[in-house]
Amino acid sequence: MFSNYVVAYDMRETIEEETKQSQKDLIQIIQSIKNREINKLSITEPLQEIAYRVLIKFAHNMDKHYNVSDDCIGCGICKKVCPVGNVDLDDNNKPYFKHHCEQCVACIQYCPKKAINYKNKTQNRRRYTYPGIKYTELAEMNKND
Ligand code: SF4
Ligand code: SF4
Repeated sequence: MFSNYVVAYDMRETIEEETKQSQKDLIQIIQSIKNREINKLSITEPLQEIAYRVLIKFAHNMDKHYNVSDDCIGCGICKKVCPVGNVDLDDNNKPYFKHHCEQCVACIQYCPKKAINYKNKTQNRRRYTYPGIKYTELAEMNKND
């Protein structure tokens, strides 16, 4: 699968190609599951696991580097799509972040005005959300009203 982690990647060039490739790869993966195949760990996977555990410790506070531009219209979608209730709106309906972020970047991806950004890295990066899931469905699951 491709990553829509906009903090680290710009998907503008690659998303359609990667989606096509993912569809091919998934067929093999599904077949492998059906066959109950067990894959051996590669030598790098334990190292990746260690790196992940170190990095995830910093994830919760990475929202300190989120900024909200004047393009914000106060719609509250960012609050509704956050799976962990990390976004709230101030008296001017401007979002702020509460530092237990999971770095899912849903708030960045679903903002209709591209108003939420990570430092100065994401302003010109493409936003992507899976077309099969509307923000209202996430809102219903999260119940962050
Ligand atoms: S989703 Fe975007 S426009 Fe809406 S309140 Fe959040 S930052 Fe503002
Ligand atoms: S939606 Fe995701 S990235 Fe945004 S504040 Fe919530 S956990 Fe963090």
